[in-house]
Amino acid sequence: MSQSLEARYELPEKVVFCRRCVMSNQRPASIPEFRHTPDRRDARYLHIDEEGVCDACRYAEKKEQIDWESRENELLRLLDRYRREEGRYDCIVPGSGGKDSGYAAHILKYKYGMHPLTVTWPPILYTDYGWRNYRNWIEVGGFDNITFKPNGRVHQLLTKLAIENLLHPFQTFVLGQKNLAPRVALQYKVPLIFYGEPEAEYGNPISETETSLRDKSYYVMSNLSEIYLAGISAPELLEKYKLSLNDLLCYLPADYRELERANIEVHYLGYYLKWTPQEAYYYSVEHTGFSARPFRTEGTYSKYNSIDDKIDDLHYYTTYIKFGLGRASYDASQEIRNKHLTREEGLTLVRRFDGEFPRRYLQDVMDYIGMDSECFLELCNRFRSPHLWKKEGGEWRLRCPVWEAERTE
Ligand SMILES: [Zn+2]
Repeated sequence: MSQSLEARYELPEKVVFCRRCVMSNQRPASIPEFRHTPDRRDARYLHIDEEGVCDACRYAEKKEQIDWESRENELLRLLDRYRREEGRYDCIVPGSGGKDSGYAAHILKYKYGMHPLTVTWPPILYTDYGWRNYRNWIEVGGFDNITFKPNGRVHQLLTKLAIENLLHPFQTFVLGQKNLAPRVALQYKVPLIFYGEPEAEYGNPISETETSLRDKSYYVMSNLSEIYLAGISAPELLEKYKLSLNDLLCYLPADYRELERANIEVHYLGYYLKWTPQEAYYYSVEHTGFSARPFRTEGTYSKYNSIDDKIDDLHYYTTYIKFGLGRASYDASQEIRNKHLTREEGLTLVRRFDGEFPRRYLQDVMDYIGMDSECFLELCNRFRSPHLWKKEGGEWRLRCPVWEAERTE
């Protein structure tokens, strides 16, 4: 492939696929959202080592060596330190009632005797299944829950701008979800937060994840101009759209000084317990009334991953446009790592489903952001990086799809 083709978003110029899964080095490994501008991401991308294996697959390999019994003992000691028997909450489990948060909250409460407060940053546009799963989580699973609903007008505006400026339909959700639990922990004086899977599972460096929750570089209000939301600097947002700082606060990290003073600890249950999405699925079906969608999710072959937000399907379509990696690539890679699929099967599924256009909820999303679907498609084309895409006979094609990568090597 010619080296002269432009690689946008600071993507690696040469596309390299992992030999074990179907991910490529184009997958963002961490996106500091507050530096995310239309032409700068400051992102790191999935690292593939000299043997051609990605960090996520290496992590999966390490997971097989882990002595899970001693990890569980570590968990028991941690929980003993924090368990409160005098009526207060002792941990926070963020989530939406999907399979992972269903599993995490249930096992902490009913197996380990903790008193979790579940915390929900709701989807931008609930699907019927997502709404029912959320309700079942609380009603059937049996948990107290705090849902934080952000200002609808601001949320709609920022979601629309993030699509227009970054082709990133999910940014407001990602930001809110990441920052809500620490805020609630401060408010309710709960010292322990449990997320589900460690991000290393997907090839994100662990240190990045941990530090992002106590991010000291971005939460400095005197440096407001360094903060970007929807690809626009905070001062510009305030001025141009007549917003106040109060409108933006729920998208920004909690003050790290307060988090430090309150000694709030963040842990990943997946560090202590062997966590596979498929088992979390079976567990939550049995215990928290979770159900998969009766139909396949567009862009992939699965029925139970991330099904609560109508915008999610569109989000994965945009990762296909920007990075050449659609939802089937993400799903298949994870299942290859958990040995539920062979790489061959993964290749077939990616070839068949990746990049399938998500029609089912498109109109709902377009109505929400006030955009015409034709305009959206044109917008997508503007975000295609020349090093990934070419136009052939009037159709856009990936220059280097994973099922062809080996043959050309
Ligand atoms: Zn891999």
